[in-house]
Amino acid sequence: MTDGTRPSHAAAGAQRAPDSGAHIALTEEHAAHNYHPLPVVLAHGEGAWVTDVEGRHYLDCLAGYSALNFGHGNPRLVARAKEQLERLTLASRAFYTDTLGPFAAALAQLTGHEVVLPMNTGAEAVETALKVVRKWGYRVKGVPEDAATIVVMEGNFHGRTTTIVSFSDDKEASDDYGPYTPGFRTVRYGDVDALRAAVDDTTVAVLLEPIQGEGGVVIPPDGYLRAVRAVCDEAGALMVADEIQSGLARTGRTFACDHEDVRPDVYVLGKALGGGILPVSAITADHRVLDVIRPGTHGSTFGGNPLAAAVGHEVVTMLGEGEFQERAARLGALLADGLHPLVGAGLDAVRVRGLWAGLDVAPGGPSGRQLCERLLERGVLAKDTHGSTIRLAPPLVVTEEEVALLVAAVADSLS
Ligand SMILES: *Cc1c(COP(=O)(O)O)cnc(C)c1O
Repeated sequence: MTDGTRPSHAAAGAQRAPDSGAHIALTEEHAAHNYHPLPVVLAHGEGAWVTDVEGRHYLDCLAGYSALNFGHGNPRLVARAKEQLERLTLASRAFYTDTLGPFAAALAQLTGHEVVLPMNTGAEAVETALKVVRKWGYRVKGVPEDAATIVVMEGNFHGRTTTIVSFSDDKEASDDYGPYTPGFRTVRYGDVDALRAAVDDTTVAVLLEPIQGEGGVVIPPDGYLRAVRAVCDEAGALMVADEIQSGLARTGRTFACDHEDVRPDVYVLGKALGGGILPVSAITADHRVLDVIRPGTHGSTFGGNPLAAAVGHEVVTMLGEGEFQERAARLGALLADGLHPLVGAGLDAVRVRGLWAGLDVAPGGPSGRQLCERLLERGVLAKDTHGSTIRLAPPLVVTEEEVALLVAAVADSLS
């Protein structure tokens, strides 16, 4: 559309684009300091790669904390979003739409649950699960008013709301946000005896991540998820699996619970459910649980909106085809093979499940942050957690060559 007098879009963009330093300064001045980003300013993404404002390319091994499982600009998801953008984006749940029913049906089918309650962010879905299990406890289990307890795990991460940080043991996440919401009991993750000792007649649910993502990709001992299922059954409590980060193909199966053939009573889903395009979250359960929610008892202006439902439906359709699970399993095995030899060569421990790895840097080596800065220099984006741990979660569209490149960059950064 260049007519000779107007500059082309690219040229106009080039004139406007300040360099990284200016963007960083502007962001630091006017955006609250609730994050400490690596010094890179991203402008473009495609598949497993992102490009910064100076045109440098990086392999994105954070992938939006697994929100980008299907890669940046996934063509199927973008096409579905564009089509819906031009048709209907928002209606509110005051009316039915032609997108929510098909999305809910498809997600129910994928999870093996009967009913879906759509929300937006992960934290909202966790809050939804907490409300539902409490109401279920009072209405169905018969727990006395305000006596419900929910058992949670040490090292958990379930989001940032006031209630959720009330049961976080990460002091940075919870300090000065009290008074805290009561009703939670914390037990050691992976410890079945501690869990059994913590449940009683007031316990309405056990809430856990089948793999702790923010905790550093902490994988519980084999058989733990089955044992949690058994404890919940004995206690008449609901098992709630927060699969916001572990679910939707990341670990090589649709859900991390699938590795132990465990079916929780409630799945909490988010992140990749929005295809890296917009926030889409949901909880899923059977009627016997979710029917405690009646009109007026819970809601969200944006939850289940047509754009979200369209993108979420396409995500679920893609997961139904199994390709991403297969890729995560196959490429994850390569990632594990590449990383395990680094234990003793700069790393203390490596935990891998599918295309998801937690690396503990050995004392005396670089900090987690320094390792991420070295990876950045080598064209790989990753994020540290808890000081000396870094997490790798490339989009599931990566190739074998890109996994090899990632492993080489880690090895090089440690030497
Ligand atoms: C990211 C995450 C959340 C919170 O999701 P938000 O969309 O950031 O609110 C909750 N639980 C787990 C396991 C997560 O990884």
